[in-house]
Amino acid sequence: MKDIIIAIDGYSSCGKSTFAKAIAEKLGYTFIDTGAMYRAVTLYAMRHNLISGEGSVNREALTAALPLISIRLLRNAQGGGNNVFLNGEDVTEEIRLAGVSDNVSRVSELAPVREHLVAQQRAMGQSKAVVMDGRDIGTVVFPNAELKIFMTASPEIRAQRRYRELVEKGVKTSLQEVENNIRQRDAIDENRAVSPLRKADNAALLDNSNMSVAEQMEWALKLVTSTQS
Ligand code: C5P
Repeated sequence: MKDIIIAIDGYSSCGKSTFAKAIAEKLGYTFIDTGAMYRAVTLYAMRHNLISGEGSVNREALTAALPLISIRLLRNAQGGGNNVFLNGEDVTEEIRLAGVSDNVSRVSELAPVREHLVAQQRAMGQSKAVVMDGRDIGTVVFPNAELKIFMTASPEIRAQRRYRELVEKGVKTSLQEVENNIRQRDAIDENRAVSPLRKADNAALLDNSNMSVAEQMEWALKLVTSTQS
């Protein structure tokens, strides 16, 4: 079986990371959550007052700071996900908080931020055997990925899933708040000038609104097998 790159893109909170992680685990591949990288840059920007209360980003200052931002993703031995380190500090939990979710799409719109992170993502995929999830993996980061999957689900279902996740983690929020954030992020991600979220022409579409994780895995592993052979 040859090692391949599996690019998974799609809308916010449609279970991309859970799905990508499960495939990586099954194949013994490295899982890379690129959203976590954009979230870590956002956290840096927030901590250094580079984002105003209204959400506008100080583009020049953040661009100048990019060489000072080191992001490392390490495999989490328990869940198979990524532990995220920002300049050596474990920020895995902090990057999931609402403040970061509210600002991340504004930071992700900036071309210098994208160039900086895309270069790192390409380096991570150099030796193949990776499952990478994000918004532009099949279109920009790895346009020649052997297998591309584009995930979607209805906004209501995505909001319910994300809300449940946050509540389980003890985060105080409301379903409406979560849905508003998802819809807002989708709109910014789809309409930005640089690397907008869109399905690559040759990506397989997975609408998982009414599918269990097991059903999604069965669907994906068939695709993987046919791609590898
Ligand atoms: O995947 P997650 O929801 O954690 O991503 C957070 C945000 O990071 C997205 O809403 C999007 O704005 C940005 N992102 C991106 N390109 C990627 C991954 C994430 O623009 N490849």
